[in-house]
Amino acid sequence: MNLETLAAQLGQKLSLAPADLETHSKDESYPERHPPTAVVFADCLEDIETTLAWARENQTPVIPFGAGTSLEGQIIPQGQAISLDVSRMNKILEIRPEDFLAVVEPGVTRKALNEALKGTGLFFSVDPGADASLGGMAGTNASGTTTVRYGGMRQNVLALQVVLSNGEVLELGKAVRKTSAGYDLKDLFIGSEGTLGIYTRLTVKLHPLPSFIHTQRVFFASLEQAAEAAFSIMASGLPAARLELVDALGIKAINQYLERNYPVQPALFMEFHSSSEAALEAEAALAFELMQDAGATSIDAARTGEACTAQWEARHQAYWALVNLYPNKEYLSTDTAVPISKMPELVRFSSQLLEEMHLTGCILGHVGDGNFHTLLVCDYGDPRADAFSQRLVEHTLALGGTCTGEHGIGLRKKKYLALEHGAALGWMQQIKKLFDPMGILNPGKVV
Ligand SMILES: Cc1cc2nc3c(=O)[nH]c(=O)nc-3n(C[C@H](O)[C@H](O)[C@H](O)COP(=O)(O)OP(=O)(O)OC[C@H]3O[C@@H](n4cnc5c(N)ncnc54)[C@H](O)[C@@H]3O)c2cc1C
Repeated sequence: MNLETLAAQLGQKLSLAPADLETHSKDESYPERHPPTAVVFADCLEDIETTLAWARENQTPVIPFGAGTSLEGQIIPQGQAISLDVSRMNKILEIRPEDFLAVVEPGVTRKALNEALKGTGLFFSVDPGADASLGGMAGTNASGTTTVRYGGMRQNVLALQVVLSNGEVLELGKAVRKTSAGYDLKDLFIGSEGTLGIYTRLTVKLHPLPSFIHTQRVFFASLEQAAEAAFSIMASGLPAARLELVDALGIKAINQYLERNYPVQPALFMEFHSSSEAALEAEAALAFELMQDAGATSIDAARTGEACTAQWEARHQAYWALVNLYPNKEYLSTDTAVPISKMPELVRFSSQLLEEMHLTGCILGHVGDGNFHTLLVCDYGDPRADAFSQRLVEHTLALGGTCTGEHGIGLRKKKYLALEHGAALGWMQQIKKLFDPMGILNPGKVV
C-alpha cells in the first residue's frame, strides 16, 4: 500500500502518530484492539472523496470514525485499514427553528448541538450515555433515555448526504415530516455502521423544550416488581418521556461512587412531560398511585428543573459507578429489546440466568422501550459471558425481540444476525455488495 500518495494529497490530515493509532484501535467496550494503518482527520467532503479514491486504488478498507464511543467493536480494524475520523467536520450549518430542524456536519456531538440550541426553546432529543457524534449515532441508529417519547435516530434524522464507496455523493430523504417517495434509502443507511457509505451532512429534527416536567424516583423490594411497575406506567398511557430501570447492584455502585445513601434496592427513574399545570397534577397523582399499587417501598417526586435533574443523577452515572466498583474487569453489555408486555419476563429471565451461571451483572436500561442491558462484570475471556449472552438472545428472540435495541451489531453480535433475520440476512449481504462491491467500507462488520 502506498500511503505516500495519500499523504501528498492530505498533508497533516494523515496521521501515523502512535497516539492517534492507539485512540483509533479501540472502542469503549470491546476488549480486542487493533490499530489502523493510518488515521485521516477529514475536515471536508473533498478529504473523504480523496481518501475513498485512494482506498479504491489500493484496495484498502476505510472505517468511518465519529467519537469512538460505540460498544460492539464497530470501529476496530480487522486488518490493514484507514480510520477516517470525521470529528473535525463539526459545523452546525443551519438551525431552522420555524421548521424544527437543524443541518449539521457528522462530527457535531449531541451536547454541542444542544448547547447551540440554547435560547431557541428547542432541543435535540436523542441522548445516548456518551457525548457521541451525530454521524456515529446515525451509524448505530442510537437511542437514549428520551426515546420512549421522542424516538431514536431513525425517527429524528430527516435527511442525509452520503458518499458511496465509488465516490458518488447522494442526497437521501428530505427536510419534511413525511414522504412516500420511493424506497427509503435514508433509513437503510441509518444503522449501517459505516458499511454502506459515509455521512457528510445530517438534517435532524428538533423538539420544543417541555414546559411542565415532573419526575419520580421509586424503589422496590424486588426487580420483578420494578419491571411490572414500568409496564403499568406504559400501559396507563401517561406521557412518559423517560422510564429507566437500575437494579440493586447498580444502586450499590452509585452509593459508593457518588457517596450517596440510596436504599440498595431496584429503582425506576421516570420523567413525564405534561401539557399544562393541571395535567401535571393529575398525571403525577396517577403515577404515584400506580407505583404504590405496584409495591413501591419509597417514592421521591420532583417538579422543578434542578430537583428533576438531581433525581436522575443515579441513572446517568450508573455505568461509570459500576466500572468504579469493579476496576480491572471487562464489561460485556447485552442490549436486548422485546415487545413491552414481554419486558418483565425478560428482566426476570436475565436475573435468574445471572444467578444460575454464578455471574455478576447489573440490569439497567430503557425499560419503557422494552430495551435493557445486562452489564456483565467478568474477567477477560471468561466463556460464561458469551454463553450468557447467547442464552439471553435466544430467549429474547423466542419472545419476539431483537438482539440489539440500540448498540448495533459491529463484531460482537454478528453471530446472532442469522438467528434473528433468517433468509433476510442474505438480502442484506446483497445490499452491501450493491453499494460497496469492492468491500472497502468497514469490512467484516454487521453482515
Ligand atoms: C457510557 C456509555 C453509554 C452509552 N449509552 C448508550 C445509549 O444509551 N444508547 C445508545 O444507543 N448507545 C449508547 N452508547 C454507545 C455509543 O455512544 C453509541 O453507539 C453512539 O451512537 C456511537 O457514536 P460515536 O460518535 O461514538 O460513533 P463511533 O463509535 O465513532 O462510530 C459508530 C459507528 O458509526 C460509524 N460512523 C461514524 N461516523 C460515521 C459517518 N460520518 N458516516 C458513516 N458511518 C459513521 C462507524 O463506522 C461505526 O460503525 C453508550 C456508550 C457509552 C460509553
